[in-house]
Amino acid sequence: TEKYKVAVIGSGNWGSVAAKLIASNTLNYDIFHDEVRMWVFDETLPSGEKLSDAINQTNVNVKYLPGIELGKNVIADPDLDHAVRDANMLVFVTPHQFVEGVCKRLVGKLRGDVQVISLIKGMEFKVDGPCMISSVISKQLGACCCVLMGANIADEIAEEKFSEATIGYRENKEVAERWARLFATPYFSVTAIQDLEGVELCGTLKNVVAIAAGFVDGLEMGSNTKAAIIRIGLNEMRAFSKRLSPSVREDTFFESCGMADLIATCFGGRNRKVAEAFAIHGGQRPFDDLETEMLQGQKLQGVSTAREVYQVLESNRWFDSFPLFRTVHEICIGNKPPSAIVHYNDFRKAED
Ligand code: NAD
Ligand code: 13P
Repeated sequence: TEKYKVAVIGSGNWGSVAAKLIASNTLNYDIFHDEVRMWVFDETLPSGEKLSDAINQTNVNVKYLPGIELGKNVIADPDLDHAVRDANMLVFVTPHQFVEGVCKRLVGKLRGDVQVISLIKGMEFKVDGPCMISSVISKQLGACCCVLMGANIADEIAEEKFSEATIGYRENKEVAERWARLFATPYFSVTAIQDLEGVELCGTLKNVVAIAAGFVDGLEMGSNTKAAIIRIGLNEMRAFSKRLSPSVREDTFFESCGMADLIATCFGGRNRKVAEAFAIHGGQRPFDDLETEMLQGQKLQGVSTAREVYQVLESNRWFDSFPLFRTVHEICIGNKPPSAIVHYNDFRKAED
């Protein structure tokens, strides 16, 4: 029988680690082709060399994951059409703002039997309402899309430190289990659950809470406040998810994609780190500038997700039920000072 051929669409910090995980498994299991194509949104390095050439020469993504070997069977490819040619397993892992543009370029270029998984945390707000990234992908490409989310700070997994992840699928368990096989290693434990919407909403919404956690860190408010933000944030994540998708399962919030990712990101993530700097500067320096200065080309998802969530709240008149989500956006755009993140005493009312 024909072997599965994998392409990774994206080669940032997490994209590179995902390629590394996958490449160790395609060598181990006969059902997969050894080679993993990784599409690179190419750029010129300060040395004058192209990033894709540098990756292929050194086997290291020198810009987005320095110091880590990806595996010789990872081939960087700057040509999107060529990277996906013959692939029947596609892994989407670009920052969420780029995914729609990439999908448009892929229409008509893919195999009819292609399976897709999204590792992307984010959402889109469109004229007819919110749209999760897996839906953007499956609508554009007409393919079934699973998601993989979890407490997965990329740099730590790159060093092969133990972590867990959750795959969310809608119907086809066999497909989800094949994805789990592609990703799981002794240090990366993957569980597949039948709650596509719940898993993806967890991964998406925790980035908004991480921004709030960064604000309280920047204000040096201590552990009790941070724990309060995490508790309130988790409640808003759950309430928001259920309103958007009533089928979301309660136990999903206790999987790696839920509580665990929320904790990891509120302590160790990039959204937290840049939001901390924003609060230290009293909200006087825009997020875009801090992102460019602090992340060297890596991208934040929480600030734009907060805007998209705010639009959902506004269009449904849900402000009263989501004071934390609402306030994060108002602080990000400069309408309120960072200290406003704890300036409300109606959380309990909102939770009723
Ligand atoms: P990143 O933050 O490192 O982003 C940089 C990437 O974006 C680079 O590959 C760059 O080439 C690319 N890029 C820049 N402009 C582009 C354009 N116009 N079109 C296409 N690509 C462009 O990326 P990442 O860390 O791999 O994150 C991707 C997704 O994975 C995000 O949704 C993120 O939330 C999620 N994620 C990240 C981590 C992590 O620890 N880094 C962990 C779990 C999930
Ligand atoms: P940051 O994008 O805030 O670094 O979060 C990474 C992540 O999603 C960890 O699971």
